[in-house]
Amino acid sequence: MRTALYPGSFDPVTVGHEEIIRRACALFDRVIVGVLYNPNKQGALTVERRMELLRDTTEGISNVEIAAFPDMLLVEAARRCGADAVLRGLRGQADAEMELQMARMNRRLAGVETLMMASSPETVAVSSSVAREIARFGGSLRGIVPETVREKAEKWLNPAGKD
Ligand code: ADP
Repeated sequence: MRTALYPGSFDPVTVGHEEIIRRACALFDRVIVGVLYNPNKQGALTVERRMELLRDTTEGISNVEIAAFPDMLLVEAARRCGADAVLRGLRGQADAEMELQMARMNRRLAGVETLMMASSPETVAVSSSVAREIARFGGSLRGIVPETVREKAEKWLNPAGKD
C-alpha cells in the first residue's frame, strides 16, 4: 500500500491543485491531502472551509483523504499518516528552487522522500494568491478554482460575502 502526502495551504484549492491530486491518485494507493497551518495565523479561509472545498473537489475519488495538520513540521505530518512520499507540484523555476531546498532538508531530517510533479501548461499561471486577489474584488474564479467549488469560493473570499 503506497501512500502519498500532498501538503499545502490550499487557501483556496485551485485547478492546479486539483490536477496534481487527480494524477497522484492514479499513481498511489492512497493520497492524503494535508492542510498544514499555523493556528495563530489567519488565512483568507478558515481551515474548515479549506477542507470543505477540498472535499467537494475530490468527491467521487475513492483513494483520497483530506486531513489537517496544525502547527507541525512536514516530516512529522508525513510520519503520522504513514506516507511513503511527500508530493509537491512544480510550476516553474521559482517553485523549484525552494522545493529542492525543502526536499533535501526533509530527507536529511527524517529520510522523507519528496516527489515533484510538473504542472500542466494550462495551470502554470494559477495560484491561490491569484484566486484570493480576484475574489476579493468580486471577480469570477472560473477556470481558477474547480467549477464545483467556484460559488462557495467566490462568496467566502469576497469580504462583502463573508458571514
Ligand atoms: P504552499 O503554501 O505549501 O506552497 P499551496 O497551497 O500554495 O501551498 O500549494 C500546495 C502545493 O501545490 C505546492 O506543492 C505547490 O507548488 C503546488 N501548486 C500550487 N499551485 C499549483 C499549480 N497551479 N500547478 C501545480 N502545482 C501547484
